[in-house]
Amino acid sequence: MADDGEVVVAGAGPAGTSAAIALALFGHRVAIFERAHFPRHRIGESLPPKIAPVFAMLGVEDAVASAGFVRMTGTTVHLGLGAATHDFDPAKRALGYQVDRARFDRLLLDRARATGVRAIEGAQVTGVDRDREGRVTGVLVKRGDVQELVPAAFVVDATGSAAVVSRALGLKKREAIRTVALTGYFTGARIPDAYPAENTLFEMRPDGWLWSVMIAGGRRNVTLGLDPADLKTAGRDAAAIYAERLGRSQLIGPLVNGAALEGEIIANDATWFFSERYAGAGFLLAGDAASFIDPLTSQGVYKAMHAGLNAAAAINTILRRPKDAELAISFYGDLQARAQRSYTEVALSFYRTSPFVAEPFWNARVRGDLWSPAAETFSPEWNAKAQSRREAFTRRLENEGGSNVRVRLKPGLEIADRPTVQGGFVVLGPSLVASDPTELSSFAQGERVDLGALLALLDGRTVADVFEGYVAATGRARSSAEARDLMRALGTLAELDRLEIE
Ligand SMILES: Cc1cc2nc3c(=O)[nH]c(=O)nc-3n(C[C@H](O)[C@H](O)[C@H](O)COP(=O)(O)OP(=O)(O)OC[C@H]3O[C@@H](n4cnc5c(N)ncnc54)[C@H](O)[C@@H]3O)c2cc1C
Repeated sequence: MADDGEVVVAGAGPAGTSAAIALALFGHRVAIFERAHFPRHRIGESLPPKIAPVFAMLGVEDAVASAGFVRMTGTTVHLGLGAATHDFDPAKRALGYQVDRARFDRLLLDRARATGVRAIEGAQVTGVDRDREGRVTGVLVKRGDVQELVPAAFVVDATGSAAVVSRALGLKKREAIRTVALTGYFTGARIPDAYPAENTLFEMRPDGWLWSVMIAGGRRNVTLGLDPADLKTAGRDAAAIYAERLGRSQLIGPLVNGAALEGEIIANDATWFFSERYAGAGFLLAGDAASFIDPLTSQGVYKAMHAGLNAAAAINTILRRPKDAELAISFYGDLQARAQRSYTEVALSFYRTSPFVAEPFWNARVRGDLWSPAAETFSPEWNAKAQSRREAFTRRLENEGGSNVRVRLKPGLEIADRPTVQGGFVVLGPSLVASDPTELSSFAQGERVDLGALLALLDGRTVADVFEGYVAATGRARSSAEARDLMRALGTLAELDRLEIE
């Protein structure tokens, strides 16, 4: 295959390594420039169960499974009033991870190197080079005292909140209301008896929130979210406010009362931001460099890796099918804008349901007009109904078995050609016209499920017969992976209320 030049990825967090691995698997030459030397600490340890197919696509499923990370069992939410604690498993029996990001990010970087990626640590990207038309054609890289211009066939900005390319191009927009997150790591924390210690814990407080996960070795991350203005209160430093609010906490504070705090409290900016555009001539933005979503969603890493996979498909298309370059750019840009909006809506619905919504911290963060672009996606009511439709379908399958549940497509479902990913390229292909709130399923439908073949089979036959018909029509293997993808697509149809279940 002709050499298309080297794709340059700035930043080796989950977004950058996912893009690099997928590009290398497509046969591209790829270089990653990473400012830090790995392993390096990074916050963002809780990974939802839905991340598993992403690991499989990148070929890191086994490495992650055998790394000894804590398996996330669910979520415990304390609404801050008395004993109003809800404990739930987000994906029924499926487990997520509470990873140590230093080791997790290193594992991904090792995988990138194993797929042939040229990965250089201690190399800071300081700017971009553009041609006369404004197309990004390279990056400036600083290593020690030496600065060099590295030409690039395409540039991925995956530098997290540093967002170097985005800033250089003036695309980064930060929200007016700022939030700061103070994190401490504890050893010797108490094991709770009312819920699994491996749960992700979240507690609403009148003046902010507390969040906690247990990572390997029983270490506990306890993070306090607050308005940075509170840190300016005369005579009180971050550590004092952290200790004081932890002392008043009902769910998380008692777990670390008497435990040893390791090192210093770490401050991270947790202010939401988005970008005016997510892709353009010669560049695209992925992960936190594209947009930062509320940490309470615990979805930042998933969003970053999902973006990396789709970025790779978009770049593969741009370099190998230049006639489809515009399609690829608009596909990727739309996907990122939709992701940012839908996560914004999730976070907003969470803030709106706070019992402290009248308090300044919460009240300032539920004024929808502050969050731009306007969150137009799905109302919390719609999301709740969609989720319960998917769960009802899954429950029936579990209880009655695939040979006893019949599925029929409801009339009125629109399928139209939309940009989607197939075989590593962005193409126009049959898609559900209804916007899809579950991003991975939109990827899975395009990349892994032959939607046309599936829909043709939804004529009232049993789910088991749909699977048999599907493997016969598409020539695919009768494997558990295919069955899982098909079930996920059926779940999405149920969620969109497009399935009659008999
Ligand atoms: C308080 C808090 C809690 C969070 N909790 C969770 C959670 O539980 N679950 C979850 O999924 N997400 C969580 N997140 C979000 C998560 O941390 C991020 O979304 C995720 O790390 C994004 O990955 P990324 O690859 O885009 O960026 P990053 O992980 O930030 O990686 C960017 C990389 O780029 C490098 N870099 C930066 N500048 C340059 C440069 N100029 N040149 C070269 N390299 C550069 C950095 O060193 C870094 O390695 C949390 C975030 C915060 C602030």
